[in-house]
Amino acid sequence: MKNRKLVMIPGPTPTVRSINDEMGRETVAFGDPEFVKDFKKLILDLKEMWKVDGECFVVAGSGTMAMEMAIANVTKREDNVLVVSNGFFGDRFIDICTRKGLNVDVLSAEWGDVVSPDMIENKLKEKNYSAITVTHVDTSTGARAPIEEIGEIIKKYPDTVYIVDGVAATAGEREYVDTMGIDILLTGSQKAFGVAPGLAILWAGQKALKRRKSLATIPEYYIDFEKWTPIMNDPTKYFATPAVNMIWALKESVRLIKEEGIEERYERHKRVSDAFNASLEALGFELLAKKECRCSTLSNVLYPEGIEDGEFRKILAEEGVMVAGGLGPYAGKMFRIGHMGNIDDHTVYATMAAIERTLIRLNYKYEIGIGVKTLLENLK
Ligand SMILES: *Cc1c(COP(=O)(O)O)cnc(C)c1O
Repeated sequence: MKNRKLVMIPGPTPTVRSINDEMGRETVAFGDPEFVKDFKKLILDLKEMWKVDGECFVVAGSGTMAMEMAIANVTKREDNVLVVSNGFFGDRFIDICTRKGLNVDVLSAEWGDVVSPDMIENKLKEKNYSAITVTHVDTSTGARAPIEEIGEIIKKYPDTVYIVDGVAATAGEREYVDTMGIDILLTGSQKAFGVAPGLAILWAGQKALKRRKSLATIPEYYIDFEKWTPIMNDPTKYFATPAVNMIWALKESVRLIKEEGIEERYERHKRVSDAFNASLEALGFELLAKKECRCSTLSNVLYPEGIEDGEFRKILAEEGVMVAGGLGPYAGKMFRIGHMGNIDDHTVYATMAAIERTLIRLNYKYEIGIGVKTLLENLK
């Protein structure tokens, strides 16, 4: 019998049966009263759970579109923007902003580390920035930015809209929009929400919405907040066809989060990630992200001497677990493994056992069983 394939890349993450069932439902008209009711409820829940006095947008697209949507709605050509980059996805904002004709300043961290709030504050004092972008968890490094501390600083800069990329964090790492001083939080459905790819999700607070108003007409059409606001408040209206089944699936994900408790969910992610990281270290692997800024949603794992990336990931896939390779300077030197969303302890143990089976097949010298044993001791 073949092993089930566990999708342990940092998104898409494994989907549970009840979410799959929603995606597999017979599609209805977007004006169907039952669907309208469900869509409305989803938006209200998202606003309440992530604490925003503003709007929430759920639009077909991926995380990258959400990044572009955030920038499009709060900046105009020639505006100054500060991009805080802790890796590959932080850098993506540079491209998005440059193409829009914005003046981009960049603060970059070494991979595995994060830009400090002090450095950000010093930069903000230099000139007037229309917006600042911060990646909560940069998936290329597994480093987590101190978004709450940065939010405290930005509260002193009324002209700067604070955009947080939560694509590898939201629903796995603690994020509250208004209370953390965030103006736009954005994510995609396929990471810690545990839904298939296909939805961009954004929360926008009052500061961001005011900025959007002040811009009058923007060049972008499909991703204009003002086009979607009427629909998000009254889904009987039409602007562009909503992704009916994906919206149902996200609603089920939100129901599961409420059932688990959002704070309990954050704690679970921390518990799983601490245990998993301890096991990886017991096997002799090193983690790229510094301990002080290590995230809970994925692990970025450096290979010890003698393990070849392509071979390791190929055998691990044969053993039933898909992981992702390293990006940029860490291509070939690292693998990335997600442990976010709706994964249970069975999945965590199965993944670790598959990693051990792989190491045994590679004749890697280590104490057989130490990975699973460390999990047993720590995953409580
Ligand atoms: C995955 C990811 C993105 C891009 O999302 P897509 O859905 O692939 O477009 C952006 N930012 C971060 C931090 C991510 O992890």
